[in-house]
Amino acid sequence: MAFAWIDEQAELRRRAGLVRTLRPRPSDSPLLDLASNDYLGLARHREVTEGAARAARTWGGGSTGSRLVTGTTELHQELERELADFCGFEAALVFSSGYAANLAAVTALAPHGSLIVSDAGNHASLIDGCRLARGSTQVVAHADPDAVRKALLTHEGPAVVVSDTVFSVDGDAAPLAGLAEACRERGAGLVVDDAHGLGVLGDGGRGAPQAAGLAGADDVVVTVTLSKSLGSQGGAVLGPAGVIDHLVNAARTFIFDTGLAPVAAGAALGAVRLLRREPERAARARAVAAELHARLSAAGLEAVRPDAAVVSVRAPSPEGAVRWAADCRAQGLAVGCFRPPSVPDGISRLRLTARADLLDGQIERAVGVIGETRP
Ligand code: PMP
Repeated sequence: MAFAWIDEQAELRRRAGLVRTLRPRPSDSPLLDLASNDYLGLARHREVTEGAARAARTWGGGSTGSRLVTGTTELHQELERELADFCGFEAALVFSSGYAANLAAVTALAPHGSLIVSDAGNHASLIDGCRLARGSTQVVAHADPDAVRKALLTHEGPAVVVSDTVFSVDGDAAPLAGLAEACRERGAGLVVDDAHGLGVLGDGGRGAPQAAGLAGADDVVVTVTLSKSLGSQGGAVLGPAGVIDHLVNAARTFIFDTGLAPVAAGAALGAVRLLRREPERAARARAVAAELHARLSAAGLEAVRPDAAVVSVRAPSPEGAVRWAADCRAQGLAVGCFRPPSVPDGISRLRLTARADLLDGQIERAVGVIGETRP
């Protein structure tokens, strides 16, 4: 039997209580949502959905081809100009996902003979970028500029340091200024994934690199997703114009992938314009995160102090985490659940997202449910 090994794996997963299931989300879910990545509550905002609807009417449902053939519309280029300008970088390039943007940035900037220094807590898409790149990878201790410095000293020639700006599991922030300093001492490039920083950190949500004074630097490249704070779908790489031109010519996930759907570009463009007009949304998401953390801690729960809008709560065991999340759901609260193998350190957590549009009463209710259902 060709796939008998799959049945064996499935049996082990069942026994450990770690089977993953797909559950459709109703369009009018009664659950209080602390599980999605819709940090600013924009996925259903009228300006975002109207941006998508207008794009669909003008350009159709799909982009019809790769970006280099028929898949680039004026809307894609408008979004690229808007994203670059908003975040303070010279140029931007949009991709069909943040995952594809990360694969592109890492592989295209780490040629044969180069060194990639990668934080141990990086997102799977950066890890996969390292695996696909021709350069060799050294994984270094989490959020540790000295470990980066040491790794860079082992290599002569091109090097890039790769890190999330806000780590998706615990919601802690990378020491961006320290990483940039370590890079500059050795002439290395810095590639940071601002998936969880855009829309939440920096002035009016301009992102973690802007908050760290790195916007527009000629040795910094930023990747983002359009699928979290911007309430759409897709990804982008921002950086110096020369780097972006290089990606157009060399990044396989740009060249061989169908361009981002115009509807997604239209939705994201609507979101960026809204963020410019309503910069207070970013600060509100941070305030909700601080409030959630304070209330969880007061209730005796072990929560990591959030640097952005992700709040992580420690669970006693993988099975305990799965049960805890299910019990929350039964009480009307949707929370994320991270457990092995999604977390490299083996520590299971509930993952809460501090949406800017959560009301104080909803925060109180969420913490109440999490406390009452604790395993
Ligand atoms: N980077 C990080 C840190 C993420 O959390 C995610 C999404 N889970 C991605 C990249 C991938 O982005 P996308 O979902 O747009 O592919």
